[in-house]
Amino acid sequence: MRQVLKAPKIAKIQKGKPLAAALRKSSHFQTVAEVVGEDAVPIVQYLKGKKNISEFKIAESIKAEVNSVRKMLYAMQNNNLVSYYRKKDRQKGWYISYWTLNDPGFNSLAIATMQQRLQQFKERLRKEEAHHGLFYICPSLCVRLEFEKAAEISFKCPECGSMLQHQDNTKTIEQLRQKIGEIEAKK
Ligand SMILES: [Zn+2]
Repeated sequence: MRQVLKAPKIAKIQKGKPLAAALRKSSHFQTVAEVVGEDAVPIVQYLKGKKNISEFKIAESIKAEVNSVRKMLYAMQNNNLVSYYRKKDRQKGWYISYWTLNDPGFNSLAIATMQQRLQQFKERLRKEEAHHGLFYICPSLCVRLEFEKAAEISFKCPECGSMLQHQDNTKTIEQLRQKIGEIEAKK
């Protein structure tokens, strides 16, 4: 029973990252959204084509709190997406950081992300192929199980009690193969 409950839920698989969305053409915006969060996208938009911009100016321009902007900038810096230098402001007497996008950092992160995704797709394809035509799914999408596991529970959904239905995964396999081919063509 424990094994059954551990099985991945189809709802999660579908909500997680649709293949098409996951494979949207890589861009700086997508990279930063994935790594730091959607809120950091305006920072990248604003910094594009600029150099050495203070965090205060960034915050003002994108209409965000300077503290949250700073937090995102440091998160970006941890991923090598920005560089900065600090300089003491003569009038105010405190240090201000000036930020610049690091394009090579974006590129290497995008490549790493793509490779990781490729591995995930390959792993998923391996599982789908290993159980080709042997998947069972709850009509309410609670669970999706391989034949052996579905048989163990007499094809009854452990979450809602519905009878599991046979699911043909030929299309899923085709889609995965296509996506893998697309990523490999980009490399
Ligand atoms: Zn169910």
